[in-house]
Amino acid sequence: MDITYPRSLQFLVTLEADASEEDLDALLARVAEAGAEARVTPGRERTVIGVIGDSDAKIVLDGLNGIAAVTPAARAHKLVARETSPDPTLIQVRGRRVGAGYFALIAGPCTVESREQTLVTARAVHDAGATMLRGGAFKPRTSPYAFQGLGVEGLRILEEAREETGLPLVTEVMDARQVELVAEAADVLQIGARNMQNFTLLAEVGAADKPVLLKRGPSSSVEELLLAAEYVVNEGNPRVILCERGIRTFERSTRYTLDLGAVPVLKEETHLPVIVDPSHAAGRRSLVPALACAAVAAGADGIIVEAHPSPDEALCDAAQLIPTGEFGEFATQIVTLVETMGKVMG
Ligand code: PEP
Ligand code: MN
Repeated sequence: MDITYPRSLQFLVTLEADASEEDLDALLARVAEAGAEARVTPGRERTVIGVIGDSDAKIVLDGLNGIAAVTPAARAHKLVARETSPDPTLIQVRGRRVGAGYFALIAGPCTVESREQTLVTARAVHDAGATMLRGGAFKPRTSPYAFQGLGVEGLRILEEAREETGLPLVTEVMDARQVELVAEAADVLQIGARNMQNFTLLAEVGAADKPVLLKRGPSSSVEELLLAAEYVVNEGNPRVILCERGIRTFERSTRYTLDLGAVPVLKEETHLPVIVDPSHAAGRRSLVPALACAAVAAGADGIIVEAHPSPDEALCDAAQLIPTGEFGEFATQIVTLVETMGKVMG
């Protein structure tokens, strides 16, 4: 495995709205001459170029045309910072969208337990209006004696569910050695909360050609989440979706404490889409609809929710699964609220 240790973003160059291709090419040539790299982010009105190099890199910008401003990269999370991209990031996968006003309703089983359970769940969430399908084949379990997922067999079942419903597939990759294997099946690579600071894994999905859904660690700060995303983007993968899924506090009445304040904070700090997982935060199905609605109202770009045809028989997270028979009503409420918030279902 080839791991590169990042040089960092030194400054941002914002081009004039009427800058030409030649102006951009001349700037990129200067950056390359100095042995630095450029990350070009085209905006609706202006293009921003992040210049990445060693702190002593000297890049001469004199004589270049079309430059509106040069700003030092002040924040620790640089590439994902709002200033770096004038427009919010829009992630498109199999014709579905998340971010920049598009809302993702990602739903499906916690864990792929069987073909039947997965297909029934996938059909139900699809018919209810879900925009992407979730499901775990490789499961991060607290106990080594708990069901660990069906692994590769689970991926094949998820592929069948995608084939039938057309929904893009979000599934977790737990280990840097399995990124290629999981990326062959997945449309979106999920990094679980417990792996948020697995830097080797972050670098590996940063080199993959698939969007990444990055969950906040239960004991991680917002800044740590942003820096974890920075690892992925710095490796060359700009398609990262951030996910608040509850943090560990003294409060035991919910499984985790859903930090909804993190949603507007993240929306101020970064151009990346921000979604919420009410299922793992709540730990109890009766609480999931309220937390999901609150997430939409807080400005989230999506939610990721677990469902099951008969939750009492589930092998994982039984208490928090929404019965597929109730999912339609749940989704209708979410869609109404999404529209009220001025967003469009992705
Ligand atoms: C999951 O979404 O399947 C999961 C295990 O969640 P988390 O990593 O947030 O605990
Ligand atoms: Mn789960």
